[in-house]
Amino acid sequence: MVSLAFTPLKEIPKVVQDLHDTFQSGITRPLEYRKEQLKGLHNLVQENEEAFREAAFLDSHKPPTEYMISETGTIRQECIDAIKNLDKWAAKKPIKTGLINSLDNVYTRMEPLGTVLIIGAWNYALNLLLAPAVGAIAAGNTVLLKPSEVATHTAALVTKLLPVYVDRRSIHIVNGGVAETTVLLEQKFDHIFYTGSGNVGKVIMSAAAKHLTPVTLELGGKSPAFVSADVDVNVAARRLAIAKFFNCGQSCIAPDYLIVQRGIEEELVNRMRAHIQEFYGASVQTSDSYARIVNRNHFQRLQKMLEATKGKVVVGGETQESDLFITPTLVLNVQPGDSLLDSEIFGPILPIMVVDDLKEGVAYVNKGDQPLALYVYSRNFKLADEIVDNTRSGTVVVNDSMVQFVIPDLPFGGTGPSGMGSYHGQKSFDTFSHARSTVVKGLGMDQFNNIRYPPYTEKKMSWLEWIMFSKAKYGPNKENPGAEDAKAKL
Ligand code: NAD
Repeated sequence: MVSLAFTPLKEIPKVVQDLHDTFQSGITRPLEYRKEQLKGLHNLVQENEEAFREAAFLDSHKPPTEYMISETGTIRQECIDAIKNLDKWAAKKPIKTGLINSLDNVYTRMEPLGTVLIIGAWNYALNLLLAPAVGAIAAGNTVLLKPSEVATHTAALVTKLLPVYVDRRSIHIVNGGVAETTVLLEQKFDHIFYTGSGNVGKVIMSAAAKHLTPVTLELGGKSPAFVSADVDVNVAARRLAIAKFFNCGQSCIAPDYLIVQRGIEEELVNRMRAHIQEFYGASVQTSDSYARIVNRNHFQRLQKMLEATKGKVVVGGETQESDLFITPTLVLNVQPGDSLLDSEIFGPILPIMVVDDLKEGVAYVNKGDQPLALYVYSRNFKLADEIVDNTRSGTVVVNDSMVQFVIPDLPFGGTGPSGMGSYHGQKSFDTFSHARSTVVKGLGMDQFNNIRYPPYTEKKMSWLEWIMFSKAKYGPNKENPGAEDAKAKL
């Protein structure tokens, strides 16, 4: 195990100040500079793919294929997308105006926010650090990265390699745990982007409030998957099994629990059991395709949850602390109030709640916090729509799970306690930009402005009203009765 050198506390304010100074110097503004940094980030990931995979294997036994799909592959896609589209994303966006501004240039300019802080979580330690950084760099900010100290090997490797590939004056790393992050949060940033638990999210938001710093919070929650009796049980079982046991269940959008319509629960369990065997063989512990729990704290937390459940363990249930191993586990007939329905599981244990009517499931979900993801498995798209229409969540997928994270242009984020703000693709660029409203006028023809200068008269007011509701902006007068009234008064 490598040891991760934490940044000395007294150095942190200077690191942040240097990034502010770099931003003020203007070097991050030209689009070419930003593209160079994005190319550097891309090459960092591509050229060191194997070393990063090894680091992730040491952190939590992450299988190489899972690593490529969910970490290096996604980061590289984000970089390529941003390099390709940056000119378009950063271009001035003209705004349609009424008659009154018809001679003016009215647009928004996408401007960098300044110096931003990105705090990553351990479960996709490279992705959750560098994917948001793509948006921050593309938008022209200086960026401070704080990797999760829990994924030690990944944090140490990215710290060593990053300065070789990008300009350290504008992109920097600080390492540490609670003490270092606390000092970081005392500094003033122009945006904080945080991924992790809701409890720490509250700490981040209250620290940010002291400086009126805007935040993006990518949090978690209990993401339900509804399974209707009309579904193709075999396909649903296969897709649910890979989504739940990918990265050993340590995904913020893994299905946290199932709400299954009565009648198909046994077949679903049997099919999932068969798919677990197909994926990982008869001995899951010796499979190269199955990850481990990240550390002892999380292992013990999961073990306690499992010991306390009143549901019936129908698949798996074996654990081995020395190897941080928990086998894929299904727990049937879990009732509201159970230990497995209390807080986010974040591990390879899947409780199954059986209901007569999925509407009971909808009512159950609506009693809790809005989840980060909600899944519906059904052949009946009308039913799926009905469930989606009557619930709230950050994201939705019908007839699959987890795929919403890897579609580059689909904004990703939570709502309510599962987070605020979103990113990926252009949305990342927008998140780290300020759309600066701009009006550019000429100095000629000021006589046209007479109607807005005092002394005010009834006639001037009527003209102004007519111009404000002009056809140019609001279409024909029949859909625009205000303009008709105003014209009649003239
Ligand atoms: P974690 O332990 O890696 O913590 C996240 C970050 O917060 C780390 O960088 C850590 O140093 C910092 N931190 C921890 N305690 C702190 C404190 N008291 N003050 C300041 N900073 C502190 O990760 P975690 O919190 O265990 O992550 C798991 C949670 O994150 C789950 O709820 C999961 O659903 C959520 N998550 C969400 C997403 C998403 O994209 N929405 C992705 C991954 C994980």
